[in-house]
Amino acid sequence: MLKSFRAAVTLSVMTLTALGTSSALAAPLKVVASFTVIADFAKNVGGDRVSITTIVGPDGDAHVYEPSPADAVAMAGADVVLVNGLHFEGFLQRLVDASATKAAIVTLTKDVTPIDFKPEFADADAAEGAGKTVTDPHAFQSIANARIYVKNIAEAFCAADSEGCVGYQTNAAAYTKKLDALEGEVKAAIQSIPEEKRVVITSHDAFGYFEHEYGLTFLAPQGISTDSEPSAADVAKLVNQVKQDKAAAMFIENITNPRLIEQIASETGIKVGGTLYSDALSQPDGPASTYIDMMHNNIAQIKGAILGS
Ligand SMILES: [Zn+2]
Repeated sequence: MLKSFRAAVTLSVMTLTALGTSSALAAPLKVVASFTVIADFAKNVGGDRVSITTIVGPDGDAHVYEPSPADAVAMAGADVVLVNGLHFEGFLQRLVDASATKAAIVTLTKDVTPIDFKPEFADADAAEGAGKTVTDPHAFQSIANARIYVKNIAEAFCAADSEGCVGYQTNAAAYTKKLDALEGEVKAAIQSIPEEKRVVITSHDAFGYFEHEYGLTFLAPQGISTDSEPSAADVAKLVNQVKQDKAAAMFIENITNPRLIEQIASETGIKVGGTLYSDALSQPDGPASTYIDMMHNNIAQIKGAILGS
């Protein structure tokens, strides 16, 4: 009995020794990601060494999200908290305060060149500040920026877990190669659309960086946040522009109520072209459960609606 117990102990010590060249035995790095896109990047960089909790889940709207007590618990226990910044997560400061987390709060847009939001339809209303320039927070819709997020995640993981650093950097480099390939596909897809047809309508202005990077114009009755309803005048103005045939297609977004887009569709006779994933990935069994699939889905929807293919 005692002998077999000793044998078992010896065996498990040997197993541990075999596993343990580095800190592979340590508990995984506890990472909180503010929303699904960041969680996907973090998974690609962190692999098995990290366990990730996502605050705003699939199809969720970070602009208006209300944190739960479980979110505060996850924040309190985190080693690293990854956020977008640029006021994308309206709930962030409240949650940081409520959780009293000691984790590093890493803002992934810190080396991104921010672009200003120029309202075309949405009035500079109370939410966005009359006449005030507002920074567009949706930087992740540019793949060039996605590479910056990934680099920042690798640096944050290295700072929190130096023994895993080589692995994080290797993973980040491999994933960055996939992003490079994706960028080529997105550019080619937009180039295949005749220039005069590169205008589409969505419900809120989530695609400013995509527009800036790839040359497709997005019009939206709501501004860069979803926290206010567009005015009747904004909607009428958009309907007029659509009737002058300046927009080639119209899309609903996975995070917003489709009612407004359906109203504009019925007033203009333009068919709704499908769903674009703007501020969140889909459920795991949906068409956009990773960042790369989100981009594939969006360019396929846009090309399909405009070119009919
Ligand atoms: Zn948004």
